[in-house]
Amino acid sequence: MARYTDASCRQCRREGMKLFLKGSRCLTDKCAIERRGYAPGQHGQSGRRKGSEYGFQLREKQKIRRIYGILERQFHGYFEKASRQKGITGENLLVLLECRLDNISYRLGFAPSRKAARQLVLHRHFTVNDRIVDIPSFQVKPGDIIKVREKSRNIDLIHLALKDAGKGFELPWLRLDKAKMEGELLERPKRLDIPTTVQEQMVVELYSK
Ligand code: SF4
Repeated sequence: MARYTDASCRQCRREGMKLFLKGSRCLTDKCAIERRGYAPGQHGQSGRRKGSEYGFQLREKQKIRRIYGILERQFHGYFEKASRQKGITGENLLVLLECRLDNISYRLGFAPSRKAARQLVLHRHFTVNDRIVDIPSFQVKPGDIIKVREKSRNIDLIHLALKDAGKGFELPWLRLDKAKMEGELLERPKRLDIPTTVQEQMVVELYSK
């Protein structure tokens, strides 16, 4: 299965902002953005950045793809689906990405990052409504119950991630029961309740050209 392989911190440096791709390390002073907050490569420190409208729109699209770990073709598929849905296309796009199983597992606190959540899903550590699901892009629906499988409940990575779950901000569209190691998508998230600073409208403008 194809996946995003560019080094995580390099992706953040390319976008000039923290994309939080490495879990708790992102919150420490070991974060590459804290230490080397300039673009990677030979000309990274020259400060030269493309300033065109197209350039900004492109960067915004790349940011979203990198945050959710989506390849170009798959991302375009999400956009197509979002534009066929009722409502605001950019918002629909973010909701579709947020409802992926790997993202929901990460948001619930079962994994320190989306990348780790993706691995855990692929290794069959979660169930959705008591059935094993090993497809990271699986769309979770309101009312679906995501559980850590009985045999996976002693995995240190999950325990460590769960220790920090819920700290900082609460997501009103998710319910987590730490003791039972299960969570539920209560409703599809609204834009205001998705904690991200990306400008999804720019992606719509980019694809509308
Ligand atoms: Fe990005 Fe996290 Fe690496 Fe910092 S530590 S550059 S936020 S992936």
